[in-house]
Amino acid sequence: MWGDLCAQLHNTLQSGDIVAFKQCRVSDYNGKSLNASSSPSDIIANVKHARAAALQKWYQSASVDQHMSSLQSLQTGGQSGDATTRVDNHLNICEMIEEADQSADIKQNSKSGWYKVDGYCTFFNNDDSKPMYYLACKTCKKKVLDEPSGYRCENCGKSYNEAVPTYNFAFMFSDYTGKVTVQCLGEVGDSILGCTAATFVEDT
Ligand SMILES: [Zn+2]
Repeated sequence: MWGDLCAQLHNTLQSGDIVAFKQCRVSDYNGKSLNASSSPSDIIANVKHARAAALQKWYQSASVDQHMSSLQSLQTGGQSGDATTRVDNHLNICEMIEEADQSADIKQNSKSGWYKVDGYCTFFNNDDSKPMYYLACKTCKKKVLDEPSGYRCENCGKSYNEAVPTYNFAFMFSDYTGKVTVQCLGEVGDSILGCTAATFVEDT
């Protein structure tokens, strides 16, 4: 946990509380890491569940120091070496930039690099003069011109009665090591904003 979330949970959580995280994921970063949503509504304190009771019993079975020393040895034993040996390419932003920088193909845009990075949106340009979507041709997906006679597609060389709103926006994505600008085109925007561009246009 880092950032505002710690301040928000500071008064809610006590040492020894059993906490549930929604959709938590285990990854091999620096031993074992857990990645989860950072929304406070996805973090449930003092869960009433049989497994929570079992965990509470385990926690009370020894002192905090004893538990912590066994966790530290687990972390040291689990370290998996440098970035290139990590099977899932799960990196932080600084490591991702360094790794992409070492590939001439990625730098020249002739090849894509795929990385899994955890972070959060730190800046969203909310500028009305620059819409977050464009109207696309339903046949070739290129940008169309909104003309009195219809939506004109230069690529297809004809006009249509309807056009498809399609996302094209950018935001700043950060973690504790750095920041990058993420460009969201088409359906990528659906998963970032949680709705299709067509719904977005209707609601705004
Ligand atoms: Zn077209």
